[in-house]
Amino acid sequence: MEFFDFLNTAVTPYHTVDALKSFFKANSFAEIGLAANYEPAKAYFVCREGSVIAFRTPKQWCDTSKFRIALAHTDFPTLKISPNPDGMNAGVCTLHTEVYGSPLYTSWLDRDLGYAGMLAYVDSADKSNTLKTKLFRGDKLFRIPQLAVHLNRGVNQDGLKVNPQVDFNALWTGASGSSVSENRKNLFVKALEKELPEGARLIDFDVQLFDAQPANRGGFNDEWIYSGRLDNLSSCHAIAEAIVGAKSAESDCLVACFFNNEEVGSTTREGAASNFLKSVLDSIASLQNDCHPGVREHDRAQAPLSSTLAESIALSIDMAHAEHPNHTEKHEPNHAPLLGKGIVLKTNSQKRYASDLMSSAQLRLLCEKAKIPLQVFIMRNDMPCGSTVGPTVSANLGIPTVDIGEPMLSMHSIREMMATSDHADMIKLVEALFC
Ligand SMILES: [Zn+2]
Repeated sequence: MEFFDFLNTAVTPYHTVDALKSFFKANSFAEIGLAANYEPAKAYFVCREGSVIAFRTPKQWCDTSKFRIALAHTDFPTLKISPNPDGMNAGVCTLHTEVYGSPLYTSWLDRDLGYAGMLAYVDSADKSNTLKTKLFRGDKLFRIPQLAVHLNRGVNQDGLKVNPQVDFNALWTGASGSSVSENRKNLFVKALEKELPEGARLIDFDVQLFDAQPANRGGFNDEWIYSGRLDNLSSCHAIAEAIVGAKSAESDCLVACFFNNEEVGSTTREGAASNFLKSVLDSIASLQNDCHPGVREHDRAQAPLSSTLAESIALSIDMAHAEHPNHTEKHEPNHAPLLGKGIVLKTNSQKRYASDLMSSAQLRLLCEKAKIPLQVFIMRNDMPCGSTVGPTVSANLGIPTVDIGEPMLSMHSIREMMATSDHADMIKLVEALFC
């Protein structure tokens, strides 16, 4: 999957999953439900809304079989268009938005903003009102302009203060003469209805804004990548590339997880704190035991899932903070990862990351084996540390887990930055996990 195509296509978690599904299907992964009949040495994927789990079953499941798991998230901070978004000010139709996750507010101003998401609708001829969904991406550009410096004296000295309730109304169209007087309620819903098949009725929508500028190479030697959504599409891409390129293992199951809602804490039906991964692993373990009809009942491998999980390993892959050349004081001096110098092991004594002694040690050995440079990040003691899906998955399932990532700058900005070589290293590392 071409990396920049993926970055430019995956503009909402639904689009991330759609792009991943297409990639898996094109590479002979079969879409399947939970508790389906998984065959040995085959590739499958299971979807749940904005999340997807892909896996390669082993040639033979036995009592020493393990899971080798890579985890990433499909979502990113954004502005979601509110259920009743329509407003009008100064002769312009505006859309109220609701903040999702923790975007870097100022970066959303004066950008070309696309809009995309999922629509729920019914066909008007359908008497049973069966709900259908449509993935869509609008082809127009919206804008959240900031105040001119002349109207915000002192902004350059005091810094720009953004109030998300006041400042995040997106300008989406100029009011025509007729629409000024017309009831402006549901103007945006009417615009969304145009995306539906003829005669369909829009029932609800989940639509968000995104940075419409395509990803670019940057730096004098093209050594960097500038794009929206690098956190965490970069990790999704590395994992997808690795599992597609892998072969089924002798006895281990290779699992690639892409979870929605990490940016808002993961406790959702499809998030990393849900029962989604546990259900998939349960199905794999139990059905693999059942799929050797020639083996007598008492000879079948019946290791309980909990002990299989305790022997397994998960890489929780999310982006890491590279040292900022203008603000080196923000990093712990001995643990400041550099752009382009290899992937980052993230540890935290307060356990905001899942890395522990043995999972970190396993990662170090994996990097040695794959000849991948490794840097270590810890947060300064006088600053709070972020988190990932790693601690959630590790605590819920008892899988030894290590948190790692590619170093980047401007995390959670609408435009982020990373190094090309670190992404190549990450793909190599996940390939080594699955090899
Ligand atoms: Zn992230």
